Amino acid sequence: MAERLDVLAVAAHPDDIELTCGGTLIKCVEAGYRVGALELTGGESGTLGSAGQRAEAAAAAAKVMGLTVRENLGLPDARLEDTQENRLKLVRVFRRLGPRVLILQNEQWRHPDHAASVALARAAAFLAGLKKIEGEGHVERLQKIMYCQAYIEHTPKPSFVVDISAQFERKLEAIMCYRSQFEGRTEAGELFPNGQPLPELVRTQCRHYGSLIRTAYGEPFYTRETLAVEDIVTLGVKSI
Ligand SMILES: [Zn+2]
Repeated sequence: MAERLDVLAVAAHPDDIELTCGGTLIKCVEAGYRVGALELTGGESGTLGSAGQRAEAAAAAAKVMGLTVRENLGLPDARLEDTQENRLKLVRVFRRLGPRVLILQNEQWRHPDHAASVALARAAAFLAGLKKIEGEGHVERLQKIMYCQAYIEHTPKPSFVVDISAQFERKLEAIMCYRSQFEGRTEAGELFPNGQPLPELVRTQCRHYGSLIRTAYGEPFYTRETLAVEDIVTLGVKSI
């Protein structure tokens, strides 16, 4: 059985992960963790670029981010559904990769595949821990699920923001591997355009999240559980 992944990000389409949590993945790689990315569809229904170009871009971006593994489940884009059949496909991947932490996207984004990806991956993560569901690999339940909260205006404050100041330029480099979709563009995925070129738009957004924790750049996340604190004296982010 292969060594477990520490962190696995799951998303509907190639490029979602770079846009929402790419800096955090790079930071985890730099900390020595084994980090992976899994897209559920090839993004073949996207307006710009082909699925082949996206697959090439995803592989290039994986190298930029230093990922241990990047895979695509090959489910149909723009028709992603949380079905038992799809759950079991995902269970097989989760058991083989054995992630300790799962980073999911956000069910409140506008593209319906994103909500489906969250429901599907969350259900599969539970089923992967059930011994009576058949299949080889790591059966133990993973430790934590966190949800990306970037580019959303109507949700509660993030549970936490990861400081990606030292990783931001590489995040951008990973995003711009998707040249066929993003070159000369002013919008992408869940990002609403404000007239700036895409790299500047991403920079503005990450600066905003960084400002919430008094750093240059950040990526926001949400957890359904309340997070525990051991030592209140070392709590970060100055209050006054
Ligand atoms: Zn997407």
